[in-house]
Amino acid sequence: MTISVIEPHGFCAGVTAALKKALSLAAARRSDSSTSLYCLHELVHNEIVVEELKKRGFTFVESIEDVPDGATVLFSAHGVAPEVREATKARGICVVDATCPFVERVHKAARDFAARGLRVVVIGHPGHIEVKGIVGEVEDAVVISDVAAAKKLCEATADTATRLGVVSQTTMNADEVAEIVVALKTRFKVETTAEVCNATKVRQDAVKAFGGDAVLVLGSASSSNTARLCECAPCRAFRAGTMDEVKSLDLSGVMHLGVTSGASTPEEFLKAAVAWLRGEMV
Ligand code: SF4
Repeated sequence: MTISVIEPHGFCAGVTAALKKALSLAAARRSDSSTSLYCLHELVHNEIVVEELKKRGFTFVESIEDVPDGATVLFSAHGVAPEVREATKARGICVVDATCPFVERVHKAARDFAARGLRVVVIGHPGHIEVKGIVGEVEDAVVISDVAAAKKLCEATADTATRLGVVSQTTMNADEVAEIVVALKTRFKVETTAEVCNATKVRQDAVKAFGGDAVLVLGSASSSNTARLCECAPCRAFRAGTMDEVKSLDLSGVMHLGVTSGASTPEEFLKAAVAWLRGEMV
């Protein structure tokens, strides 16, 4: 079996910057162990990264209510709703914000659309942390994740004069986002900034262009961009989040395997997986 590493892959700029903030907080804590470090949600959706940060003293929580007054909290790369920021001010919580600038741009676009009276539509997965943060910026945002939901929204809205301001979760399937916008335009006047971030797009494009007969995407099951990379593969796609999962893959019949990784997957994991697949380690 031939194994090719697909480029680009792995950490994006947003994840690299978020990790840098986390590691410098952990280093500062080593010299002042009285500080409690909290991270609101997984810093990035990768179990290897999260386990490493736990070892370095971070406690991961799913609600700002679980952060004690006066503690230090790191906001994840996915961003938070304004009400979460307000809650930290009221309770003297020290915030270190690792929200990716591309996510901040989406928040701003949603606010601007709402301020101009447009109905905000978020193309994204309901319940995803990034989507929750964007939705928290405006009242009555609608979240849709596919063309079928876009068509339903078209049918359900009687007022054809309704103007939509459409934004997107940064890690969606780029082609699907474009199709959803086209579907909305059949009924509404649409203004849009809806597109995935560049890091997501170039990783998806590289997978689409791969000419082998199978792709292995390394990344956690909870990682949206990892799941989208699997969807983009023009051939069979496998996903593995740990070395145990890599070792249990059934790759029988695969002649040419392309290996890539999600934007939150450490490069060391990809190197170890490729070495094992090439028979260089046991
Ligand atoms: S995938 Fe894009 S939006 Fe998300 S952290 Fe990376 S650069 Fe930022």
